[in-house]
Amino acid sequence: MINNVKNYIQSLFLWELLKGLQLTGRYLFKRKITVQYPEEKTPQSHRFRGLHALRRYPNGEERCIACKLCEAVCPAVAITIESEPRDDGSRRTTRYDIDLTKCIFCGFCEESCPVDSIVETRIFEYHGENRDDLLMTKQKLLEVGDAVEAQIAEDRARDAFYR
Ligand code: SF4
Ligand code: SF4
Repeated sequence: MINNVKNYIQSLFLWELLKGLQLTGRYLFKRKITVQYPEEKTPQSHRFRGLHALRRYPNGEERCIACKLCEAVCPAVAITIESEPRDDGSRRTTRYDIDLTKCIFCGFCEESCPVDSIVETRIFEYHGENRDDLLMTKQKLLEVGDAVEAQIAEDRARDAFYR
């Protein structure tokens, strides 16, 4: 009974509306946090997990030694590797695919790699119009790595203490 009377009086004085306006007023003069993407961008962590890349050594040699640890650890079974020995006895991949339609960007592949070959870059602005576009072949992965190697090396250096 008392509650009913209280509710009636509150509704008479538009109490809920006033409470809502009080909340609006509290944020009216606060600093705006809306970002006008794509003209403006939010800060990015140097550990950002975006598009994958395969890296090379400064002499142009591929880092990947086809140990297949990344393939084994991938929880989404998104990585497919085939390999064979070279004439000099070293082992290299003949196929290295990442299916981005399966990938969950967990970062396990880069964490498992003993030679810092497979990495996730800061690139997040990409798209595919069919499934093939989102199948990252070895060639595509190396091209991404070549394009942003400087940024990858800088980000890795910042984590050197933990690696
Ligand atoms: S980020 Fe995770 S899910 Fe994606 S390829 Fe690497 S290990 Fe697999
Ligand atoms: S990318 Fe790294 S973990 Fe994967 S096969 Fe190559 S060397 Fe091994």
